[in-house]
Amino acid sequence: MDVFISVDMEGIAGITTMRHILRGTDDYPRSRLLMTDEANAAVSGAFEGGAKRVVVSDSHGDMGNLLPDRLDRRSELVSGTPKLPWSMLTGIGPDFAVALFIGYHAGGGVEAAVMDHTFTGYFFDVRVNDDQWNETHLNAALAGSFGVPVGLVTGDDKCCEQAKRLKGVRTVAVKQGIGRHVATSLSPQVAHERIRRAALEATRTANEALVFRPKPPFGLEVDMISTSCTELAALAPGTQRTGPRTVRFEAKTVQEMIQTLLAWMYLARHAAPQYKVD
Ligand SMILES: [Zn+2]
Repeated sequence: MDVFISVDMEGIAGITTMRHILRGTDDYPRSRLLMTDEANAAVSGAFEGGAKRVVVSDSHGDMGNLLPDRLDRRSELVSGTPKLPWSMLTGIGPDFAVALFIGYHAGGGVEAAVMDHTFTGYFFDVRVNDDQWNETHLNAALAGSFGVPVGLVTGDDKCCEQAKRLKGVRTVAVKQGIGRHVATSLSPQVAHERIRRAALEATRTANEALVFRPKPPFGLEVDMISTSCTELAALAPGTQRTGPRTVRFEAKTVQEMIQTLLAWMYLARHAAPQYKVD
């Protein structure tokens, strides 16, 4: 049985600030260790639950955060940038029995959620058929397009709450969000133990997990944070600009929807404001 693990950084135990998650800060090297150790907890659980092969996908920022020489030697690592065609899920395919999302975060616009955003800070709001979707939902639908269910989502309490759109999914809240950059966190060691156990169960019961297969068509809509970003995103073929800061695309498949979203992200990046660390 093959298990796919996508690991982001904002939802890792002990991580709360931009200084923790941005390359070049004093705190970032420590966060790479925390992220890698949390990934290892999920890898251990997956093997204990019956996995024969585990692929770990680095899913944060430039997708080069996990430390290859510290990652469980039984696993394989997908990293590099730009990590296309599927960004956080590059490397997934129909051979995987289950996907685990570790260190995830709530979507943009959620109160008291640690570093809430959806793919990027210049997407103000992301909607599919008029419902707000976050990275968990979008990536779960993408995994679903390959027939792969999501068995576990970990992150803060708001991320776990939003993951409930996926019926039957297990969650582990490693911290309780108090503000955008404030949380009460479990000790990493306690988080690792809970994640290991949940990953074990998610892998052991992978054949009972429900695949997230929302019905097409998908009306994908993004409100951008500026008119400049919107002008650039509107260059993508098939994209309609439906408002000063809104673009829309009618997708027939999940994969077409995700590729459009990524195209908008890369186009709009040219006019996006840079993150400031304070
Ligand atoms: Zn991230």
